[in-house]
Amino acid sequence: MKAVVLGSGQDGGVPQLLGPDRDERSASSVAVVTDDGAILLDCAPDVRRQHRALTSAIGDDAARIAAVALTHGHMGHYAGLVHFGKEAAATTEIPLYGTRSMIRFLESNEPWATLFRNRNLVVGSTTFEIGGVKGEAIPVPHRSELTDAVAWSISDDETRLLYLPDIDSWDAWPNAADVIGSHDVALLDASFFDEDEPLGRPISEIPHPLVVDTLERFRAADCRVVLTHLNHTNALARGDADAHARVAAAGWEVAFDGMVIE
Ligand SMILES: [Zn+2]
Ligand SMILES: [Zn+2]
Repeated sequence: MKAVVLGSGQDGGVPQLLGPDRDERSASSVAVVTDDGAILLDCAPDVRRQHRALTSAIGDDAARIAAVALTHGHMGHYAGLVHFGKEAAATTEIPLYGTRSMIRFLESNEPWATLFRNRNLVVGSTTFEIGGVKGEAIPVPHRSELTDAVAWSISDDETRLLYLPDIDSWDAWPNAADVIGSHDVALLDASFFDEDEPLGRPISEIPHPLVVDTLERFRAADCRVVLTHLNHTNALARGDADAHARVAAAGWEVAFDGMVIE
C-alpha cells in the first residue's frame, strides 16, 4: 500500500489565519493510492493545492480521485468539498463515504446538499472496496455537536493503516490499544504536545490527548506510529528540537505535508 500525507495540521492549518509565522502545514488529510485512483481520507479546505501536490508526486492517473472518506463534520475535514461543485471541478459521481450522521449533515446543509443533487457526489456507507483496498470506519469518541466521528481502517493484502486525526481522549476509547496494535501503520491525533501549550485558553476546553501521554501509553505498540493533525501551538509544529527528539526516541515519526508512507 502507498499513502501520501496531504496535510498534517489541525483544522485551521499552520500557520493559522491570524497566527504567528510557522512552517506550512495544511489541514489533516491522507491520500490512499489504489489501482483505481486515489481515495482521499478527509477533504481539507486546501484540497485544491493538496491535490496539485499529489498529482506532481504520483502522476495524473494515480492521483485521479476515486472516492472520499470523511472522519467527521469539523471544518478542516470536509470543507474542501466545495471544490467538487460546478463552480470548480464539477466532479461526476464520486462516492462519499462516512457515517449516516455525517452524510445527513451534508445533505441537509448548503452548499453541500447541491453536490448530491447534481451528482458531483454520491452517498456511500462506512465500508468500501476500491482498487484492491478495503476501508472500514471505526467509531471514536470526539465532540459530536454536528456529527459523530470515526477513524478509517484501510487495508490491502499486505498492510493495515489506521487514520485517526481526532479523538477526545484515549481513556474514552477503551479498545484504543487493541485497534492501534492491530494495524501496521497508525496516523494518530497529535493536536497538542503537552499542557504547556500556549493556547490562550484552558487546554481542557479543547479535548484531545497530549502527545506526551500518547507516547507513554502506546510506546510498546507493535505499529509504526506517525503523529498528525498538529495544532499551530504544538511544540512539534513550532520546530522544538526537544519535542522532536522525544518522538524520535520512541521510534515514532511526525507527519509532514507530502510524506509518502509505503
Ligand atoms: Zn480536526
Ligand atoms: Zn474534530
